[in-house]
Amino acid sequence: MAVDAADSRRSRWQPIPHSLPSKVSFPSGSIDQGRQRGGIESAIPRPLQADTSTDFLIIGAGFSGLVIAERLASAGWKCAVVDRRAHFGGNAHDRIDPAGVLIHPYGPHYFRTNSPRIVDYLSRFTAWHEVSYKINSHTRGRYWSFPINLNTFEEYLGRASTSEEFSTWLEQTRVPIDNPQNSEEVIISQVGRELYELFFEGYTLKQWKRHPRELDASVCGRIPVRTNRDDRYLSETFQALPANGYTAMFENLLAATPGIDLRLGMDFKEAKARWNCKHLVFTGAIDEYYERRFGPLPYRSLRFEHESFDAEQLRRRDAISGKSGFWQPAMQVNYPDAETPFTRIVEIKHATGQNIAASTILREFPKDWTPADEPFYPVPAPAARAAYQRYAALAVNEPNTSFIGRLATYRYYNMDQVTAMALTEADKLLARYGSP
Ligand code: FAD
Ligand code: UDP
Repeated sequence: MAVDAADSRRSRWQPIPHSLPSKVSFPSGSIDQGRQRGGIESAIPRPLQADTSTDFLIIGAGFSGLVIAERLASAGWKCAVVDRRAHFGGNAHDRIDPAGVLIHPYGPHYFRTNSPRIVDYLSRFTAWHEVSYKINSHTRGRYWSFPINLNTFEEYLGRASTSEEFSTWLEQTRVPIDNPQNSEEVIISQVGRELYELFFEGYTLKQWKRHPRELDASVCGRIPVRTNRDDRYLSETFQALPANGYTAMFENLLAATPGIDLRLGMDFKEAKARWNCKHLVFTGAIDEYYERRFGPLPYRSLRFEHESFDAEQLRRRDAISGKSGFWQPAMQVNYPDAETPFTRIVEIKHATGQNIAASTILREFPKDWTPADEPFYPVPAPAARAAYQRYAALAVNEPNTSFIGRLATYRYYNMDQVTAMALTEADKLLARYGSP
């Protein structure tokens, strides 16, 4: 879609200035891949020595890899961080798209946490842009307030109501289940079958290609249900985005940590052949580490479709978005209908607050994972967990390798949780190895 370049240039949103770490490189030939934020524009390719040695070799430059690298390097250890992608930040990476819009190319990343320790730690590298994350659901041909709250109930009834009436209705409608064992039970035990079928069943089937009955209760259980008018998607006490984005935050982390040698565009196999290290930290998929000797673990992947709109195109959407300069009424609209092939449309500009006339939307199409895809989601289900346990049993017998992060521990973890995991593991390693 065409966008008005002049409008993009007029944007007042600017990344904060940063300096880059001294040692960042790509394998020869891959320098072009660095010409985006989060790759390193100034990187000078240099040949790798076959006998390079480092204290810690860290595979993966996402949240878990960069946080543990920062802690270890700040204690004086040499850290080589390697990522097969051409950028750092892992799935939280963000960048400016051709329309000038700051996007989350791997799906929306809404930072939230209940942990002051995590906020304090990350605040060393970023200021925050507070966001009340608001979303809608779209089904039966209309937008609904979501997650389920008193507004949703009024939309369902087609008239005004009260928290008392809604609570009474829920008491009469919910299926009494004391200890919900799966994602169907956790929702029907709160809101009954009709709202479950309206908002959850179809979405979950598309997203996971499994019935909610086959998924842990925590999957759908993480979506709040409220009888008041609080329509925020999340419930954590701290909800904010890094003020200039995740990539800028990680750029600041790297700039503040000279002991990190970051290599982009390189995978684990090559890194293993090139470095000797005291200790390996692996944040990739654990079954890949073990060359899938017990077979691949199940993952869900995603295909993304981006579409950008200029000011004139967005003006024609005013009646739908209700907000000038936007394509849809909320940062995220979920599509639970089975007939719609995607699960959600994200217009991240609602959340970033970027001041730009253009806007970009991202449609998410769930897909089966194949080795050619990103393993975006470990599957939170008993059979998948049992398959993971076979690999985990091997991992505990590797004293000089740490497995951290969402893929290496096969957990449906948020960014704050993997940050906590990296900080804890760094403490353990520093207790074990001391300082150089
Ligand atoms: P990753 O970000 O996956 O980083 C691992 C890195 O390792 C990757 O860059 C990968 O390229 C690299 N790697 C893997 N294998 C190898 C190898 N063999 N060789 C070299 N490099 C390798 N969390 C939230 O808190 N809020 C949200 O709103 C949210 N939304 C999400 C939406 C989507 C669509 C997805 C997929 C995730 C979302 N998350 C969200 C979760 C969040 O992405 C993770 O918690 C976090 O990014 C995990 O960080 P990580 O470092 O463990 O893994
Ligand atoms: N979910 C749903 N309907 C919705 C939103 C979520 O059924 O409108 C279920 C679905 O199974 C989803 C899970 O709740 O995978 C967790 O939703 P969340 O938005 O937290 O997913 P993520 O952002 O991690 O993809």
